[in-house]
Amino acid sequence: MNTLSPHIADHQDVIIVGAGPAGLSAAESCAKAGLRVLVLERQKEIGYPIHTSGGTWIADMKALNIPQELYFPIPRITFLSPNNACEFFYDTPVSCVLDIRGLYQYLAAQAIKAGAVIRTASPVEGPILENDKLVGVKGKNALNEPQEWRANLVIDCTGFSSTIASRMGLHGGYHRYGYGAEWDLVAPNFPQNELYLIMGSQVAPSGYAWAFPHGSGRVRLGVGIIRPDADEDARKYLMTFVERLPQLSAVFAGASPLEYHTGLFPSEGMMEHFVADGLITAGDSAGQGSTLVGEGIRFAIYAGKMAGNVAASAIRSNDTSAKRLGEFDKQWRAQFGRNLDIAYIINKRIAAYTDTQWDDSLGLLAKLSPAEAAEAIRGDFSVKLVTGIVRKNPSLLTKGAKAFVRTISQRIIAKD
Ligand SMILES: Cc1cc2nc3c(=O)[nH]c(=O)nc-3n(C[C@H](O)[C@H](O)[C@H](O)COP(=O)(O)OP(=O)(O)OC[C@H]3O[C@@H](n4cnc5c(N)ncnc54)[C@H](O)[C@@H]3O)c2cc1C
Repeated sequence: MNTLSPHIADHQDVIIVGAGPAGLSAAESCAKAGLRVLVLERQKEIGYPIHTSGGTWIADMKALNIPQELYFPIPRITFLSPNNACEFFYDTPVSCVLDIRGLYQYLAAQAIKAGAVIRTASPVEGPILENDKLVGVKGKNALNEPQEWRANLVIDCTGFSSTIASRMGLHGGYHRYGYGAEWDLVAPNFPQNELYLIMGSQVAPSGYAWAFPHGSGRVRLGVGIIRPDADEDARKYLMTFVERLPQLSAVFAGASPLEYHTGLFPSEGMMEHFVADGLITAGDSAGQGSTLVGEGIRFAIYAGKMAGNVAASAIRSNDTSAKRLGEFDKQWRAQFGRNLDIAYIINKRIAAYTDTQWDDSLGLLAKLSPAEAAEAIRGDFSVKLVTGIVRKNPSLLTKGAKAFVRTISQRIIAKD
């Protein structure tokens, strides 16, 4: 096929809708398995506009073979609440902030080198159904002409919009979500070795604010608010951030934004089913991120790879039924399901915290070792972690948190 033609129309093995981290990783896996793969992206560029902050974990970037120059290690993590603070220092940094556009374009290049074809400026409007069977997708090509693309299998990686999965009845759209507004600043006085997570009703009702340095004096300062838990405008909180948190005014002195980002993150847990006949949905479109801190990039990459591998073996066996593709459901839930479920239970609870509860929580957090704190924020829940937290904070077993600790422990034990 002419991979540069705007009219690319040959029948594909797989069409992937959405070129975010999930879609691009799925494309690479499918192409590596020898499938004809077409990725359709509605934006004109890969990795633009940015709608994420890029905080993630070095261990996962290593496990996913992401080149080191695409992430900026941060040794210090500081938590602030209205009247409390705690910080953790890592001799060997565990957290990092991504060069988001660099990462997405790297993932795209990997997919193309493996044989995938990517089309930007190609918005998909919906599925093509024949006799109730999904046979492809329709939308507009890069010349803004109506076009249909046909395939044996569609992978929906459209993120929050969940364009195909929602129209195929896998779910009815997200009703609970994080709404974030962020500046990417040049902030000459901001410490580039320190990442902040800030909670409290003054800064981010029901959510949190973040300051993620990412090299060369740059910092992403953002506010995320969970809706409908709070009905506030994240932009208002971002633009008045320094007045709301005067103790950080010194580090933001002289700062100015170069970019402004906004985005939505599904915050209602994983979808009940990730597949239908001829369809897999992966990444945010399947609710596969961690709602604990609204973190989904590494999960999207893992999901895309897993979905691509399942797609490849289903197509090889000439069976793209929901039953066959259900392998993706099984594999995902076995590897990530338990921790993502627990993250969601915790998120629902902490989204309703008062300022006093945040102050108390930081008091509990401060007693953890840096390693325990990292496990907790990553959402790597284990009996050892919960036992360690309770041992250092026996009040958890005597106050109102007792029933909650029991619920979490039961979830861990049930699936350990
Ligand atoms: C404000 C904010 C901050 C965040 N911060 C972090 C963070 O610090 N760390 C972290 O790990 N996660 C973070 N996340 C979550 C993270 O961004 C997502 O989990 C991740 O982007 C999911 O990847 P994805 O590939 O599933 O979807 P997306 O990244 O949303 O990609 C979907 C792609 O599909 C395209 N698309 C959508 N509809 C169509 C269509 N109809 N036709 C064609 N293309 C379409 C979109 O243009 C997009 O390119 C944040 C999210 C938000 C909103």
